[in-house]
Amino acid sequence: MALVIRHAFRPIITTQYPEERLVPSKRIRAPQLVWEEERCTVCATCAKACPQGNITIVSESLPGNKYGMKHLEIDHGRCMFCGLCVEACPFDAIHLGRDYEQATYRRSQLVLTRDEVRLSEKRKASGYFRPRFEAEMPPQTLLVYGEKKGK
Ligand code: SF4
Ligand code: SF4
Repeated sequence: MALVIRHAFRPIITTQYPEERLVPSKRIRAPQLVWEEERCTVCATCAKACPQGNITIVSESLPGNKYGMKHLEIDHGRCMFCGLCVEACPFDAIHLGRDYEQATYRRSQLVLTRDEVRLSEKRKASGYFRPRFEAEMPPQTLLVYGEKKGK
């Protein structure tokens, strides 16, 4: 009986997703990859490290004996988010992301190109093993967008 009473008066922790959303942990390793163009040298180490062959990189020669990324494609539909590509990158240019909502209606929508995987305000990197991202993230909270809808 004491247990029942204790639970009857404890704070409600259930949220009404998707109206109410959580701020996830700074170290969430969500099912998405995020690419940082400024750091990438187009070495293709990430593509070689992927056991699934999910990452396609096509480089192009640039003036001054440099290389640029002509085409980047990551198949999130086949990805197991093992993070091997993230660990293999010598320049910290590819990261696991923060957004856990990845549902789509079509399989083809999970094959993302460079503009879609690029680090941006919409596509943020996880703070896991990345203190520079972790430092700028909000603390985890139970209610993300603050108040319950309609109140
Ligand atoms: S997370 Fe793993 S499976 Fe996904 S692209 Fe990277 S290495 Fe491949
Ligand atoms: S391993 Fe890193 S630097 Fe090399 S191509 Fe992949 S993301 Fe770019």
